[in-house]
This record gives sequence, C-alpha cells and structure tokens, in this order.
Amino acid sequence: MKADYQRIIQSYWDNTTSIPSFVNGQFVYGTGEEVVIHDAHTGLERLSYPDADEAIIATADAASAEAGKAWWSLTAQVRGQIMQRIGAKIRENLEDLALVECYSANKPIRDAKVEVLKVAEMFEYYAGWTDKLHGEVIPVPTSHLNYVKYEPLGTVLQITPWNAPIFTCGWQLAPAIAAGNAVILKPSELTPVSSLLVAVLADEAGVPKGLINVIAGYGHTAGQMAIKQAKIRKIVFVGSPATGKRIAVSAAEQGIPCVLELGGKSANIVFDDADLELAAKGAQAAIFSGAGQSCVSGSRLLVQESIYDRFCEAVAQASKQFIIGDPSDAQTQIGPIHNLKQYQHVNHMLTVAQQEGAVLLENGHPGVDKSEGYYVAPSLLKGANNMACAQEEIFGPVVVAIPFKDEDDAIAIANDSKFGLAGAVWTKDVGRAHRVADQVKAGTFWINSYKTIHVSSPFGGYGESGYGRSSGLEALREYSEVKSVWVETARTPAANFGYSANLE
Ligand code: NAD
Repeated sequence: MKADYQRIIQSYWDNTTSIPSFVNGQFVYGTGEEVVIHDAHTGLERLSYPDADEAIIATADAASAEAGKAWWSLTAQVRGQIMQRIGAKIRENLEDLALVECYSANKPIRDAKVEVLKVAEMFEYYAGWTDKLHGEVIPVPTSHLNYVKYEPLGTVLQITPWNAPIFTCGWQLAPAIAAGNAVILKPSELTPVSSLLVAVLADEAGVPKGLINVIAGYGHTAGQMAIKQAKIRKIVFVGSPATGKRIAVSAAEQGIPCVLELGGKSANIVFDDADLELAAKGAQAAIFSGAGQSCVSGSRLLVQESIYDRFCEAVAQASKQFIIGDPSDAQTQIGPIHNLKQYQHVNHMLTVAQQEGAVLLENGHPGVDKSEGYYVAPSLLKGANNMACAQEEIFGPVVVAIPFKDEDDAIAIANDSKFGLAGAVWTKDVGRAHRVADQVKAGTFWINSYKTIHVSSPFGGYGESGYGRSSGLEALREYSEVKSVWVETARTPAANFGYSANLE
C-alpha cells in the first residue's frame, strides 16, 4: 500500500502513472473517458486518468455496506482510537499531503500545510465524540420508558469541489465515520489525489476495508452513477449552487435526503468607527487569500460613505504587496486560479463589469505575468452596486466595494442577496456589532474578524448557500438516524396502549 501511495504522489511529477479510485481497500483503475488535469501555474497539461466506471461504483456499494456493519460492531472507544490514529498518520505524512494539495489544488504550499494540519485536527476532534454520542431519556406522560438513540445512516455519498479538496474531505469524512457510517466520496475530478491518500492512511490506521471509498472521476458520470445505483442513505454535496440544485433533483428522484454546502456572496461591512487598519487587512484576507476561491470570501465589501474612497484605496494599494506566483514556492501568498474554466469565468465577470461602467481600482500586480498560467491580480471594483458582479459568485480575487449610509442601509444591502453563507462587521460599537450580526442572514458571521472557522463549530448556509450543517455536533446529527424506543413498564398496561380513543 505504501508503494501505491508513493506512486500516486509521483504521478504529479512525472505523469507516468494514472490516478485510480480506492474501493474496498484497493486501488482500481477506471475505464471511462480520460480526465485531463492542467497545471494552473504554467497552463500545461499535467496528467490524465480514466474516469471511474460502473464496476467501481458497484464494488464501492457492496464493500461500504459490509464495512459499515463491521465498523458499527466495534466499540465506540475502538472507533475513536482508530480515528485518533488517522489524525496521527495525517500529521506524519504532512509534507507529502501538503505537496500533493499544493500541486493539485494549486494552493500556496504554506496554506496547504495549514489545511493538512486542520484535517488531522478534524479526525482527532471527532475521535473524541465517538463514545459521547449517547441518547436521551424523555419524561413521557405514560407508563413507558422512552429513550432516544442515534444510529448510523448506512452508506453516505459525499461530493466535494476542487477549491479545498483535502479540507472538505476531512470536514465531511470525519463526522460521517464518527457517527458510524460508511462513505463513498467523489472528490472533484480535478483534485482526487489528496482524498485518495487520506483514505489510504485511514486504511492503514485500521478502518474496515471499504469503509472509505474514493471515486476518481466526473460528477455527471461517476457521481450520478453513485446516486442512482448505490444504496445511498444521504448525500452531502459541497460545490456550486447550479450543481447543488441538480444533485438535489437527482436525490429527490431516489428519495435520498441531502445536505447542500454551496456558494456565497458574503458581505463584509466596515463602519467608519472601526479600527480601519485592521479592517483593511481583514478585507484583503477575506477576498484575496486563496485567490478568492473560497466559499466564504468577503466578495462584497460594504463601506460607510464617509470613508468609502479612502478605505477602498487603502485595500487596493496594500494588495500590491502580496507575493503572487508559483504555489510551490514557500514565499508565495497567492497562487493562480485553479483551472482554465474558472479563469475564463473570473476574467469574463471583470470584463463585463468594466463594459457596464464599473471602475477597476487596482489591477496589474507587479508579480502577475498574464502570459502564462491562470493568474488574476487582486481586483477591486467600484460603481458596480447593481451589476451581476455584485450578485453572482465570481470565485476569484475580485471584490465589489459598495458604499452605505448607516446601519439600516448596511443591513439592507447585506441582505439583498440570494445567498447567505457568511458575513462580517467591523466596528468599535459593541451594541451595533451584535445588532448587525443578529440581522444579517448568514450561517456564519464574524465581528471584527474574518474567515475563522473550526471543526467544533457548525457551518452552513441560508438561502441559496444551501441547507443542513457541517462540522460541530450538528454534523454528527446530520449523519445520524434518530430512533425513539418505547418500553412498557406498567404492571397492568393500559388496554388502549396510551391512545385516548378506545380501540376496542
Ligand atoms: P462544482 O459544482 O462544479 O463541482 C462540485 C462537485 O460536483 C465535483 O465533485 C463535481 O465532479 C461534482 N458534479 C458536477 N456535476 C455533477 C452532477 N451532474 N452530478 C453529480 N456530481 C456532479 O463546484 P466546483 O467548481 O468544483 O467548486 C466551486 C464551488 O464550490 C463554489 O461555488 C464554492 O462556493 C463552492 N464551495 C462551497 C463550500 C461550502 O462549504 N459551502 C466549500 C467549498 C466550495
């Protein structure tokens, strides 16, 4: 297994090996159409591999059903110990995993390392929950003992995007297996490798073969086959709103419930009484880190009128200091846009906004050579309040700066969005900070901060940002069935079995 692991990693350097799926504890190569992956730094082809086929899905389906039973038959303590070992193995393989994530997700290596460590933390956090998932006793008004217990769903299907492959893998895998489920994980066809490696490490840590199956392939083929042909009990989808809606339709046709973790257009609100230096740093981190390819990006910057021009200028100027370039360089702070389709989308949104009259405050970063690779300089648009770029997710380093008059105006603009994933407010007025946090419709909200999330706290969206919750205790509930058990304790049970109507 270690040799296979090394071979998969090597594929990123020499393009001599293909990428398999990992099902029933084994690597299996697909036979479908070739999936071609490009290097975003150079724009050149990096490698290709065959899409997963029906046989792979059938193996994952059968294996996950058996493995789920074996996993749940272990004691909660043993499941927790194995999950702790997964966390430890991820830490031991930090360098490998970070390099793969850097190459496949085109993430700056420094960010990739942080994300790998967070994934280890996710398994460790949920390891601690396995023996604390106790039920409850309900004081019912009859002679019964009524208790509630949490049970695994069975096999869950997870479909994840390219922007944070290993992070979303850990974010979903850890609570799913902590709650006793088996998993079929279909990462983005563009970034399957780090998820494959996590599955291999979990296998080495001692999970039953087939508990974690990773399918390398397209969504419209392999993903849909999994939805339609495997015995899936729930789908957790992380990705774009358009695909999310398609998945929800496919799931409904099969009678399968879903959790949808979709995109956003989050409002980052800056009042004139804020610590403006800190707020400017926060505004940059909110949109430019990860080249804006984050679901919670602060892509709408709402600034109070009195400081609007000054603040926008400060954000735009300071963004020139970022080190942009090759993600594998330890100094790089911002890498390229992940893939050509996304690169074209970001450029299209920027071009249309300017054609419609928006002003691009700063573009042309000293480190960005547009002649090669998929690089976009940090960009701030003014005068675009009512344009598509202020409503639709761009998913790139582009922020739309919108002026507001007062608190009510800021809240109204923040809520003028079909999305509701995240948001923030910057102010020294504590009362106002809480009022704004209370009224902005978003699943995550920061006060004088941005982007901090943690596996222990629930995460999810309002509106078109999705439904259901990931992380925290909420994720364990999403991944569990709830059973209510009624035990008659009376010496002489009521003949009507607790119904008020006489059934005789
Ligand atoms: P995407 O919707 O194109 O793809 C996501 C996944 O869906 C991939 O694995 C893909 O193969 C699969 N897929 C595509 N079509 C499918 C189909 N017909 N049936 C089944 N599966 C299908 O998204 P993307 O471009 O990879 O990722 C970017 C999006 O993800 C952004 O909108 C971003 O906001 C969102 N995102 C959300 C969160 C969150 O937690 N809310 C986190 C990260 C990214």
